[in-house]
Amino acid sequence: MLYMLTIMTNIAERLNEVRCRMAQACAAAGRPVSQVRLLAVSKTFGVEAVAKAIEAGQEDFGENYLPEGAEKVAYFAERGRSLQWHMIGPLQSNKTRMVAESFHWVHTVDRVKVAERLSEQRPAAMPDLEVCLEVNVSGEESKSGVTPEELPALAAAVMRLPHLQLRGLMCIPAPARELAAQRRPFAQLRGLMEDLQRAGYPLDTLSMGMSDDLEAAILEGATIVRVGRAIFGERHYAAQEADRLNP
Ligand SMILES: *Cc1c(COP(=O)(O)O)cnc(C)c1O
Repeated sequence: MLYMLTIMTNIAERLNEVRCRMAQACAAAGRPVSQVRLLAVSKTFGVEAVAKAIEAGQEDFGENYLPEGAEKVAYFAERGRSLQWHMIGPLQSNKTRMVAESFHWVHTVDRVKVAERLSEQRPAAMPDLEVCLEVNVSGEESKSGVTPEELPALAAAVMRLPHLQLRGLMCIPAPARELAAQRRPFAQLRGLMEDLQRAGYPLDTLSMGMSDDLEAAILEGATIVRVGRAIFGERHYAAQEADRLNP
């Protein structure tokens, strides 16, 4: 309990620290701070933690799991909060409807079939779903994401879908300690987006960088950084169910 209170009072402070880190990285990169959006990754944290972040001015939130993510979207929608919710977790075909009906953005599209379902299931009354394609850049541990070779075909297929707006690319590189090593996969993702831009795709989004490597990502052109632990603290997966909707 005491632990939870400490986390809560620190969220505004931690958010501020993250925004300072982003501003410093933007200055180092010679980029305006307005070019980089902060996505607060609230997976495993309850609505009370999200509310603290909202009070501190945060509007974009990232979630990985269903139904946890969709429940938080509904909770804040019922309270009239206008927020932007981003799905950043692996997408299962049987849960695309929940994503299409709840979220504003999906960062992890890596299969045509999933993209088609999202487009079909997007309610007509909602604006197009903003989409990033997840790319498995070199050195990436996870099994998700298309290879750079598969990317052009996926981009072409997603562009044709009526209720999706293709915005850019996303990656989750393997953790690296040194700045130079952190920058390499981010530079690769930027190069892949530039290739697609040259081929005529109107892309403007690079979703890359997390708590430990957001500076490297901003130096390589990130327009969205996805930050969890640096804002909300360490995640405790076992406590997730109990804390989820008990503010
Ligand atoms: C959990 C997660 C994050 C946030 O990671 P932190 O290290 O807590 O900042 C970012 N992106 C994705 C895809 C994630 O799953």
